[in-house]
Amino acid sequence: MKTLKLDAINDYAYAVNRASEILRSGGIVAVPTETVYGLAASAYSDDAINAVFAAKGRPQDNPLIVHISSIDMLRDVARDIPDSAKKCASAFWPGPFTMVLPKGDNIASNVSAGLNTVAVRYPSDKTICDIITKSGLPLAAPSANTSGRPSPTTAAHVIEDLDGKIDAVVMGGDCQVGVESTVVSLVGDKPRLLRPGAITPDQLRKILPDLVIDDAVLQQLKEGEAAASPGMKYKHYAPKTNAVLVEGCSNSFVKFVNSKNDCAAICFEEEYYNISIPKISYGSKRDEKTLAQNVFSVLRDIDTLGVKEVYIHAPSKDGVGLAVYNRLIRACAFEVIKL
Ligand code: AMP
Ligand code: MG
Repeated sequence: MKTLKLDAINDYAYAVNRASEILRSGGIVAVPTETVYGLAASAYSDDAINAVFAAKGRPQDNPLIVHISSIDMLRDVARDIPDSAKKCASAFWPGPFTMVLPKGDNIASNVSAGLNTVAVRYPSDKTICDIITKSGLPLAAPSANTSGRPSPTTAAHVIEDLDGKIDAVVMGGDCQVGVESTVVSLVGDKPRLLRPGAITPDQLRKILPDLVIDDAVLQQLKEGEAAASPGMKYKHYAPKTNAVLVEGCSNSFVKFVNSKNDCAAICFEEEYYNISIPKISYGSKRDEKTLAQNVFSVLRDIDTLGVKEVYIHAPSKDGVGLAVYNRLIRACAFEVIKL
């Protein structure tokens, strides 16, 4: 199939209109959001959702997030909406925040991989919101990458993975947040953080004081253990080069990587000039937001370095750092060295 490239920077109205038409006729279209690029399809269409799973090579048991462009649309997607969801919506929407709620009847069952719950987000990015509103459809949209690869934060990343496999790409600018949304389940006894993102645990606890952080955020699930968030059980975001996460101070990290041959380092800008092997900085260790913006792009760049192994300096787990750490530990298949 030929993938249509829609230039949303120079011809925004045409790109939004054409993308909406394609989605209304059951097609699948990659669109920018503030978190990462998403691969969108009508949340009402089983066939369009199947095409999303096929294009990504996504495991069938990993459910998708449904995107809406107003709080009113929540009623089309979910039912029995608790007060806590209303409070979260007014605190965090529009924005990089997803809630898991009881699923509405009109949403295709493969969106939720057969679960009786649905994940919903109202993004702040204008392009996806305009496409939702114009098409009149809630849009199920996982990240627009090949399953297992780093999530796409530029239109070029989407084309690298999915050119020829999807109907169109809306080519906008680079994503501002850079990591996928914070996911919180509101269906259990207590609200549960399933995936960390730009909305941090401290921000969540102001609205949800009894928030529980799911074990899968920082640990590998044990063999046979059920995943509250199916997406968190897979090796994910991985470069082709073997990657290892390294925890420790700058001095120890520099010493450690400088003793290695045929390896590369992903480091902080503060230590960049002291490292004598191939290296890429992903930002200042004090600026977790920049680390989040760059992390997926850097994970893609690793494979251009031509080395056998890469050591990634772990960020702090504070604030948005928790989301960056969560993505990196999966990219490293939970292989961590503590210096
Ligand atoms: P992605 O589409 O790549 O952003 O991944 C979506 C994430 O949301 C995955 O980690 C899913 O497991 C999680 N998710 C989506 N729907 C549900 C649901 N109904 N219950 C729990 N987790 C969900
Ligand atoms: Mg994804």
